[in-house]
Amino acid sequence: MEITANVQETPVKTPQKVIVIGGSIAGLLTARVLADHFDQVTIIERDRVPEQPESRAGVPQSHQLHVLLTQGYRILNQLFPGLEEELAGLDVSTLNWTADFQWLLPGGWSPRFPSHLKTQACSRNLLEFLIRKRLAAYRNLDFKEATTVTGLLLNPNRTTVEGVKLRNSNGTDTQLSAQFVVDASGRNSQTPQWLKNVGYEAPQETIVNAFLGYASRWYQSLGNEPLDYHVLYLMPQAPHQSRGGVLYRVEGDRWIVCLIGVGRDYPPTDEAGFLDFAQSLSDPSVYEAIKNAQPISPIYGYRRTENRLRHYERLSHFPNNFVVVGDAVCTFNPVYGQGMTVASLAALVLDQCFKQYTQHRSNPDLKDLGKHFQKKLALVNQTPWLMATADDLRWSTTAGDKPNIITRFLQQYIDKVILVASERAEVYQSFIEVIHLIKPTTIFFKPSILWQVIRQAFS
Ligand SMILES: Cc1cc2nc3c(=O)[nH]c(=O)nc-3n(C[C@H](O)[C@H](O)[C@H](O)COP(=O)(O)OP(=O)(O)OC[C@H]3O[C@@H](n4cnc5c(N)ncnc54)[C@H](O)[C@@H]3O)c2cc1C
Repeated sequence: MEITANVQETPVKTPQKVIVIGGSIAGLLTARVLADHFDQVTIIERDRVPEQPESRAGVPQSHQLHVLLTQGYRILNQLFPGLEEELAGLDVSTLNWTADFQWLLPGGWSPRFPSHLKTQACSRNLLEFLIRKRLAAYRNLDFKEATTVTGLLLNPNRTTVEGVKLRNSNGTDTQLSAQFVVDASGRNSQTPQWLKNVGYEAPQETIVNAFLGYASRWYQSLGNEPLDYHVLYLMPQAPHQSRGGVLYRVEGDRWIVCLIGVGRDYPPTDEAGFLDFAQSLSDPSVYEAIKNAQPISPIYGYRRTENRLRHYERLSHFPNNFVVVGDAVCTFNPVYGQGMTVASLAALVLDQCFKQYTQHRSNPDLKDLGKHFQKKLALVNQTPWLMATADDLRWSTTAGDKPNIITRFLQQYIDKVILVASERAEVYQSFIEVIHLIKPTTIFFKPSILWQVIRQAFS
């Protein structure tokens, strides 16, 4: 990923208001960059916002394992300088993704060695809470909580978004005008319907569904600690090994234990079923860690995990002064841990678009910015989408267009890379760099890796 942004620069501010619909990760990060470009940023969030790092109804996935990839972690630290130190002060330890991650690959356990691939492993709730707290310090940013956006307001000839329709928690309907609106309301975004209501086409959708389910439970400590890893991953492996599991340590020395089943082999959410499923995994490590451990939460199931891409970039007509970001555009099968990182990449792209449109102009015309942004966002989504769907399409049970010849070639080639990766530290590091969206997939074809793959194929 070549996207970088110097968010320390002071961009030209448009003396205008922007509304962000949805105050979850994508909405918060978008609001952060827009605070550099607008006089006033208003985030409208349907939930009442908790004053502690807690789950809330609008983000039901927050009980589940949320891994922040290295690329996302770096961008967050760029957007919120000092975040690393703040996390460290909250008992969040550093996770080196090549040293502290024990991954059972098809060729055996991953090599372990230190590298530059570091993040801090905290819970999703803590991360969102800290970002929200940082934003509270922005004088030009306000949060309208317990308020639902029910539609878009357009100008009389319906070319330009001029605000939103709102419903307050007491059921009162109002309106709020703005010069720019961002939809960050997640996978249930109503934008396709709102566009239709005002005479636009809804975007086409591509769906690839591996029918994967999670069952997650939190533990204060695991049975056989001390463990010499921070994360352990038993990966489901097509075509036959539909089950997997993860152990992931977060702040306060707590562990999230996540059981995974592909192709409707959903992990159960009852006590005995959860343990039986853990015992059925390809390696005993997850079961051994939890069999005598004391859980501190119920078992949370989750099954809405399809990859869904809304092609806003293909629409020939799109209202001015409006963009859609985050899961509202593209959701990924969560097992690849991409959503928050892709949302952070999108925030940087939006920042770049505003810089480009406002540079050297005292009264910038933002009319086409939305269209331009959706095309750029589609490019950002391309690689993570390909990685997630190519892998999901290995399963005969996955619903979606069957893989084309390029995808099939990639699947087979990457199988070989993974086999080499379990033996060669430098190949493994490249593999992690690609997964963490630091490097493009093309590095798998650099001569040093290509050569080892060829040797492996003929051995
Ligand atoms: C089970 C699961 C596990 C995941 N694991 C990972 C992971 O490991 N790593 C990772 O990076 N990502 C993961 N993700 C994805 C991640 O949760 C999302 O990509 C991330 O939260 C960004 O989403 P978002 O902000 O676009 O939408 P959401 O997080 O869905 O938030 C949408 C927000 O909009 C609000 N809202 C909705 N409608 C309205 C309205 N009309 N008016 C006002 N407010 C509204 C909601 O209340 C909510 O706050 C996972 C997802 C799931 C489902």
